[in-house]
Parts: sequence; structure tokens; C-alpha cells
Amino acid sequence: MTRQIIPVEPFDYVLFGGTGDLAQRKLLPSLYQRDRDGQLPAPSRLIGASRAELTSEAYREFARDALKTHVPDNEREEEHVERFIARLHYVPVDAKSDNGWAELRDLVKQFDDGRIRAFYLAVGPGLFGDISAQLEKFDLIDDRTRLVIEKPLGRDLESARELNRVVGEHFDEHQVFRIDHYLGKETVQNLLALRFANALFEPLWNGTHIDHVQITVAETVGVGSRAGYYDKSGAMRDMVQNHLLQLLCLVAMEPPASGEADAIRDEKLKVLRALKPITSQTAANTTVRAQYGRGTVEGEQAQGYLDELGTESSTASFVALKAEIDNWRWAGVPFYLRTGKRMAMRMSEIVIQFRPVPHSIFAKGAGAMHSNKLVLRLQPDESVKQWIMIKDPGPGGMRLRHVPLDMSFAVNFEERSPDAYERLLLDVIRGNQTLFMRRDEVEAAWRWIDPIFDAWEETEQAVETYPSGSWGPPQSINLIARDNRIWNDGGPDAPR
Ligand code: NAP
Repeated sequence: MTRQIIPVEPFDYVLFGGTGDLAQRKLLPSLYQRDRDGQLPAPSRLIGASRAELTSEAYREFARDALKTHVPDNEREEEHVERFIARLHYVPVDAKSDNGWAELRDLVKQFDDGRIRAFYLAVGPGLFGDISAQLEKFDLIDDRTRLVIEKPLGRDLESARELNRVVGEHFDEHQVFRIDHYLGKETVQNLLALRFANALFEPLWNGTHIDHVQITVAETVGVGSRAGYYDKSGAMRDMVQNHLLQLLCLVAMEPPASGEADAIRDEKLKVLRALKPITSQTAANTTVRAQYGRGTVEGEQAQGYLDELGTESSTASFVALKAEIDNWRWAGVPFYLRTGKRMAMRMSEIVIQFRPVPHSIFAKGAGAMHSNKLVLRLQPDESVKQWIMIKDPGPGGMRLRHVPLDMSFAVNFEERSPDAYERLLLDVIRGNQTLFMRRDEVEAAWRWIDPIFDAWEETEQAVETYPSGSWGPPQSINLIARDNRIWNDGGPDAPR
């Protein structure tokens, strides 16, 4: 099937924090890519807003540099770059005062042609309430207005509720787009396609046939100069509460009645509510928290977490959890989650591990029997591999081999895999909330996470150490080995 570019309505995208890191690395490059593909209607504009006293001309130069750094050379044709740059405007605005707001209003209202107005808050969450209130005060909110916010959406249930409350004072829930960029990844969309566009998997998608599920999000980077900032969140708040739990929900949810946003989000919410609470009685056997020590990552010497932070801390840069879902489909099927910084390789994947065959008819000499597994790789090199047993081709009798049915997207479809932000930024304009978290989902996730912190505090559970460049502390291996299972480690060439 040929590639389709679905046009969107004309819009103005206002990027609060338009001079920040997120805007430079993701938002501007992603909007450029959509423009390059011809998806942005002619009159659409992008308006940067932050306190820096820049002219629109200076902001265009800033954006040009951002594209140079973050878009590959062969995807930056002059004609496309110039067309994109011409859409850019800039207004100095302070979220915390009235400075610049009248100018922003005048610019946004310059065209009253019914276009969509999206406000992306690429600023700290402490400014979400201020900006929402100012948008209302300066009459910038109507039916065509959308608000985009991103993690951290709170640091516990109470602060998440407060954040939702201050935003909810000015915006209706259907106008609020809470980004979790993992949901925009091609493989995650593919998980939905595999589960609900094939009759093949659904009958097997339960505890009768699935032994367990693993979700790993491993990074090789450390915290470096952002140590002070990171130390306030750590792996649990930064990764588990949002990205890992969202992935778990998509694997575990019941088939929704339709592809409508709320049909899917209702099912995800049910999963979050069915998660078995982790308590001070169970935390020792179901959770591991750890910090990286010194070591070697990708051939380079690396410092330890506390070296980089320069002070004592119990914040974990690695977390492994055994989650259980108390419902008919998943009773007795553990979901092992782990995420960490300074790990052996950068890799995010979901592994659906099927149960072994009940009985082998093959002689010992035929080789080891491996259970089937479906491996969805989110990064790098997004792919879906269904591991199966086959007969090793050629003469030599019956020899069994474990091989992947491979759908490595970039190779098989010769398609540039769009960045998750590209899809999500335009879903906002389309008003499609399917891949965005609803208020009650965010709160339900915190409701499960908060007691884990309480349990760690109450039981004074140790913060383990792992060498930089490893797969985490031995306690993480024990967490899963205790159940006679092993993590699906290793690079693309490692035996699996
Ligand atoms: P950043 O580089 O520090 O940028 C912050 C932006 O906010 C700057 O443009 C800053 O510009 C603007 N700003 C600060 N105070 C302001 C005020 N009073 N009024 C108007 N603008 C103000 O931060 P970032 O990394 O881009 O992250 C922004 C938010 O997104 C954070 O909450 C972060 O946690 C979240 N996030 C970031 C990433 C990422 O990859 N960077 C990923 C996920 C989530 P001025 O100083 O000129 O005002």
C-alpha cells in the first residue's frame, strides 16, 4: 500500500518554551518533517514563546540551527527548510506576568479564519497553571483551542491531581492532550494492529498461553549535568509511572469496542485499576531499586550516579518490578518491568513469552526446544519478531532451530520511521486523543506507584548498585530467576 499523507486543518501552534531543549530536539524538527511531507496547510503558523527577548527573525535563525543539528543532512532540502522557516514567529512572553501576552493575543488573533489553535507547554509543570490562566484572561481559549502538556505530570497522586485541577479550571478534558511519546512510536501502533487486526493472537492472549511479559526500557546515557534535576524524579517517576505502565496497559487491555479514544482509554484505565497493590509486605520480593556505579559504557569509562550528583541520595536510576494484574485474563501471569540508565545497551522492548509445548516428540539430539515469543522492539530499529521453532534446513536429520519471523520495518518497507512526536503533534490538530493519557489514567497510575515509595521508605529497602554498562544489579536477575525465568537480554546478535 502506498504511503498516505492525510491533510489537517489550518492551525497555529504556539510553543511555550520554544527556545528550550524539547523544542530544539523534537518539536521543531518534527513539525519540519510533517511540513516536508506536505502535511501542513499553507496558512499554518508556528509561534515560539518564552521570556528570551528575541525577534521573529532571530527565532528563525535559532530554528534553522535546531534543524541543522537535529535533522539529517539528506532530509533538509533548502526549499523545504525555507518554507518551514517562513511559518515561524516569535513573541517574548513571561508565563508569570502580563508581559508579552497582549502581543501574543494580537498575533494569534490576526487571522480569525477558524483555524485550530494549539498551545504546547514545553515548560516546567510549575507554569501549567499560570499559562492556562493567562490564556483564559487574554481570551485565547475557545472550542478550537487545544492544550498539550508533557511529563512530569506530578510527582505523586496529590500533585498530579493538583496539576489536573489547575489545567481543568480553564480547559475541558477533550481539549487537553497529555503526551506520552512512547505511545506515538510505530511499534506501539503495531501492537494495536497485531492484537486487533489479526484473529491469530487474541485466542492466545491470556494466561493459558502466555507465560509472562517483559517490558524493558534501557538507556546507556547517565544523568551527567542534569543530575540535580533528575534526582528529584528518578527512574520510577521518570519512566515507570508513564511510559512502562502505558505499554503494559496496551499489552494487557481487553479489546476495546472501537478505535475511539475513550473506548481505548477506558480499557487502559481498567488495567491500571486491576494492578495488584505492592505493599511493605510484598515489596522485597517484587521490587528492586538501584543506582549505577562506575563502569564502562560502549567502551567509555563512566562515573557513578553519586559521583555525578556529588552528594548522598536514595533516588534510583534503575527499577525492576514484578507487576500482577488481578483479572481473569492475566491472573498468574507476571509482567516484569525494568528500566535504567547507564545500561549495557540502549533498547526498549516488549517481550510476550508464550508457554512451552506441553510435550516434545523430538529426540534429545534434535536440540533445545525454546518457547515462542513475540518481541516488539521500540528502539533502536523498531521491529516486531515472532520467534518460532523450525527444522534447521538441509540434510542431517531433524535438528530444531529457534528463528524469528522478522518484520524489521525500516528494511522491509523502506520507509523513514517517523519520530513519535510527528504523529502526536498532528493528532493534536486532528483532535484525536487516542494516543494521549486521560486525566483518570494518570491518576490511576500514581495510585499504584505511590504505595511502592511508601513501602520502600517503611521497610528501608536497600538501594542496590550496578556497574555502569551492565543490565542492572544481581537483585534484578534474582527477581525474575526466583520464578525460574530470565530477562531477554542482549543485542540483536545475542542468542534469544
Ligand atoms: P528547558 O530547555 O529548560 O526549556 C524551558 C523553556 O521554558 C525555555 O524555552 C524557557 O525560555 C521557557 N521558560 C522558562 N520560564 C518561563 C516563563 N516564566 N515564561 C515563559 N517561558 C519560560 O526545558 P526542556 O528540556 O525543553 O523541557 C521543558 C519541559 O518539557 C520540562 O517540564 C521537561 O520536564 C519536559 N520534557 C522535556 C523533554 C526533553 O527531551 N527535553 C522530554 C520530555 C519532557 P526562557 O528562559 O527564555 O523563558
